[in-house]
Amino acid sequence: METHQHRTDALVVGSGYAGSIAALRLAEAGVATIVLERGRRWQVGADGDTFATQHRPDGRASWLSPKSPLTDQTLDIYPGVLESLEGEGLTMIAAAGVGGASLLSNGTMVEPSPELFRRAFGDFLDQREMHDVWYPQARELIGCSPIPKDVLDSDFYRSSRDFMDQLERAGIPYDLVDLAVDWGVIREEMAGRRTASHIAGLNVFGVNSGAQRSMDVTVLARAEATGHVEVRPLSVVTGIRPQGDGHLVSYDELDERGTLVARHEVHTAHLVLAAGTLGTTRLLLRAKAAGHLPGLDASVGTRVGNSEVITARTGMAPNNPAQGGPCSVIVKDWQDNPHAPVTLLNFPWVDAPSDEGWITTIGASPTEPLGSFRYDADKDDVVLNWPVEDPRAVRATDAVRHTLDRLNAATPGSKTAFNRIGTTGGNVVGGVPLGLATAADGSVHGARNLYVVDSSLLHGSSGAVPPALTISAVAARVASLLVASIAGA
Ligand SMILES: Cc1cc2nc3c(=O)[nH]c(=O)nc-3n(C[C@H](O)[C@H](O)[C@H](O)COP(=O)(O)OP(=O)(O)OC[C@H]3O[C@@H](n4cnc5c(N)ncnc54)[C@H](O)[C@@H]3O)c2cc1C
Repeated sequence: METHQHRTDALVVGSGYAGSIAALRLAEAGVATIVLERGRRWQVGADGDTFATQHRPDGRASWLSPKSPLTDQTLDIYPGVLESLEGEGLTMIAAAGVGGASLLSNGTMVEPSPELFRRAFGDFLDQREMHDVWYPQARELIGCSPIPKDVLDSDFYRSSRDFMDQLERAGIPYDLVDLAVDWGVIREEMAGRRTASHIAGLNVFGVNSGAQRSMDVTVLARAEATGHVEVRPLSVVTGIRPQGDGHLVSYDELDERGTLVARHEVHTAHLVLAAGTLGTTRLLLRAKAAGHLPGLDASVGTRVGNSEVITARTGMAPNNPAQGGPCSVIVKDWQDNPHAPVTLLNFPWVDAPSDEGWITTIGASPTEPLGSFRYDADKDDVVLNWPVEDPRAVRATDAVRHTLDRLNAATPGSKTAFNRIGTTGGNVVGGVPLGLATAADGSVHGARNLYVVDSSLLHGSSGAVPPALTISAVAARVASLLVASIAGA
C-alpha cells in the first residue's frame, strides 16, 4: 500500500478536552495545524439514533472490538466511541471520536480545593495561578453551569432532590455541580421533543439528544472556524519518530467500518500529543521501545492513578434512579471525614432494580499514583498495572464508607449495597508526569519540539474530584506556553 506524504507546522494527536484547547490556541496564533483523531465524527441527527445506548448496544459503543465492559452483548466490529484496555487490576476505558471523552462523559466540571490541589500536584504547579487564571479560562472555554431550578424541580430529578434532603439531614456539605450540558436541550428532552438521553441516564455511549456540550461542537469548532485547523477523523497514529528538528508521524486512515484504506506520513515542525493517558503513553513508550526516542525520562509510564469509588445505597422510597442524569449534586466531605476527604457525585444507573429507591454515587478520595504502564513487545502495546489490593488504594473505600454511614444514619431504612474501588475506569490519569517527564511547559524531556498537553501530565490524581476541568486548565496553560515558544522560535 502506498504511503502518502504531508507536511504541516503543527500536528495535534487527539481531539478531546486537551487536544481541542491546544488546537484552538495554535489556530488563534495563526499556526497551520492538523488534528489527527482516530475516531469518527459524530454529528447528532434528528432521528435520535446517532449513538448506541445501554438499552440497545451495538458496534458504535466499542472501538473495533466485539466486547465492552459496559455490556454483556457481543457487538459488531466498528470504530465506536470507547476502547477498553484490560489491564492488571483495572480495565481502562478511553474514548475514541472527534471530541474525545467529552462526547460521552457525565460532564461534571469541578475544581479541587486549594489543599486537595496541592496534595495532587505538590510543587509542580502553582495552585494560585491555576485558580486565578487557568481554571476560569477552562470553564469559559467549556461552558458549564449547574442544574437550573425548574429542571431540578421536575420529576426527572427526584433522586437528586432526595439526595440533597438526605445530605441536609446528615449535615454533610454539598453543592450543585457545574455541568457541560445545554439545559435548553434537556428541557426539550423533558418535553418529549428530543430523544430522552440525559434525563434517562443514557450518556456513556454518547448523547442522542444533542444536549452534550462536547468539544467537537464548542472549542474544536471554534478552532476549525479560524481556517487554520484541519481535523482528520478516522486517522490512527501508529508511530512517531524525530526527523530534523521536527517529527515524522505515521498514521492509518480507516473507513467508517474501521477498515484500513490508506497509510500516511506527516512531517511536522511541532508535535503535540493529546491522545489521553492511554493514547499518549502508548505512543511514547512504543517510540522508546523502537529506539526512536531513547532519551525519554524514566518516569514515562509512571504516576498513574485511578480515583473512582463506585457506591450504591438502597432502602429508600422509589425515586427513579435511572432518570435524572447527568450527576447534579456534588458532596464535598472534605473537612470532617476522619479517614480522608471524600467527593461523591450522584449518577444515574439505568439498570437499577425498580422495586425500591436507589442512589448511586461515583466517589473519589485522594489517590496515590500507584499505577503504571509498561510496553509489551509481543503485543506491541502497553500493559496497565493497578495494584487494586494495595492498602493505599483500598483505604479510599474506608473514607467513602464513613460518609455513606452518616448518610444512612440520617436516612431511616437506607443501607449501603456496595462501596468498591472502580475496576473499570474512565478517570485514569497520569503516565507522563508534568515536571518529571516534561518541563513545566509540557515539552518532553529527551526530545525536541515534542509536547504533551493532556491527562497524562497529571500525577495520578486531580485532587479527589473528576479530572476533566483540571485537565482542561492544565491544557490551557501548557498550550499558551507552547504557542509562545513556537511564536518565539
Ligand atoms: C464514560 C466516561 C465518563 C466520564 N465522565 C467524566 C466527568 O463527568 N467529569 C470529569 O471530570 N471527567 C470525566 N471523565 C474523564 C475525562 O473525560 C477524561 O479524563 C478526559 O476526557 C481526558 O481528556 P484528554 O483530552 O486527556 O483525553 P480524551 O478526552 O480521552 O481524548 C483523547 C483523544 O485522543 C484520541 N486518540 C488516542 N489515541 C490516538 C491515536 N493513536 N491516534 C489518533 N487519535 C488518538 C482518542 O480517540 C480521543 O479522542 C469521564 C471519562 C469517561 C470515559
